[in-house]
Amino acid sequence: MRVAIVNIGTTVSGDLAAPFVKGDTIITEDDRIVTVGSAAAREVEACDVVIDADGTTAIPGLIDSHVHVTFGDFTPRQNTVGYLESYLHGGVTTAISASEVHVPGRPRDADGVKALAVAAHKCFAHYRPGGMKVHAGSVILEPTLNGNDLGEIAKQGVWLAKAGFGAFKTAFEYAPLVAAARAHGMITTCHTGGSSIPGSGAITGDHLLAMRPHVSFHVNGGPTAMPDRDFERIIVEGDMALQVCTAGNLRTTLLCARLSQQHNALDRLIVATDTPTGSGVMPLGMLYTISHLASLGGIAPEFAIAAATGSNARVYRLDTGVLAAGKAADIVLIDAPDGGTQDDALAAIQNGDIAAVGAVISGGEIRFVGRSRNTPATTRNVRVASNRIMRDFSSAR
Ligand SMILES: [Zn+2]
Repeated sequence: MRVAIVNIGTTVSGDLAAPFVKGDTIITEDDRIVTVGSAAAREVEACDVVIDADGTTAIPGLIDSHVHVTFGDFTPRQNTVGYLESYLHGGVTTAISASEVHVPGRPRDADGVKALAVAAHKCFAHYRPGGMKVHAGSVILEPTLNGNDLGEIAKQGVWLAKAGFGAFKTAFEYAPLVAAARAHGMITTCHTGGSSIPGSGAITGDHLLAMRPHVSFHVNGGPTAMPDRDFERIIVEGDMALQVCTAGNLRTTLLCARLSQQHNALDRLIVATDTPTGSGVMPLGMLYTISHLASLGGIAPEFAIAAATGSNARVYRLDTGVLAAGKAADIVLIDAPDGGTQDDALAAIQNGDIAAVGAVISGGEIRFVGRSRNTPATTRNVRVASNRIMRDFSSAR
């Protein structure tokens, strides 16, 4: 399927180094972006579907790099079905598992831990809830595992490893397993801050610097923050990504935003929700944190969007998160919410409002055009201008 999006007002690339793209048109073919900028009229006419963006803002599909998936589109923590599809209506086209720790009765023996990660990885490889791409199967590092176990599941495709929920006496004991997971090509992640479940201890700056994971999960606290003095230390002494989460401490999110700019480390700041958890299902969590960073954290809206898209993609080595030819066709149209005080999406975000989502394309498929079921309505009228496919992509306004 070829899709053209025309009359785009602003194109935010998702790339910190070049946050805007000139032009008003994006063309996709199957699951890839073909053109971002401008296109000849005949190229647009040759598309199966043309979406009139009506001056709204195009951004890459949001990547939530901390979602507590289990199996299917179901969260046992909040007994809710269909939440991932709901997040797609908040502009999230990619979710990355924070480990399948919420699976009821999760095993702790080596065979069980490995089987859980492999099964989750393989279940979501071909299952897109609501059209969302889910990267699942994050192995929970436990004392029962050794380096060979990690090599075995890496061969099965598992590429995410999580420190923080294992039955270790101190968090320093994770270090050899984190190093082994890295050696097998995995992206390593680590719980940060006060304990989130009974029995686990606090993980702070000393632990993170000893462990050196790729990502400090919810660096702002999940939900309880580590000491303020540790933020500057891990930024200056470490090189890990700094993941700020909606379901955490807002004051330390803003502290981290300030320090990462001060130390020229904005490229390490990434956005996620850390949901569903005790804080609930939050379909608009990514949009809230983008808005908090821009309206309170002194980060330009286009940079806050990059932290939620291209920076997440770079840290997790994903082929999405940036609007550029050849990248995955994951595109969201956003706008100032209807009835607000601002004229466009970026001004609304800067104002602290939630951007309204007017269309979502993921994996090159149009998921809806018109009205998100979760955000306010857009100010402008995003619509299907022409359509040669026997399907109705419009959602009721
Ligand atoms: Zn979490």
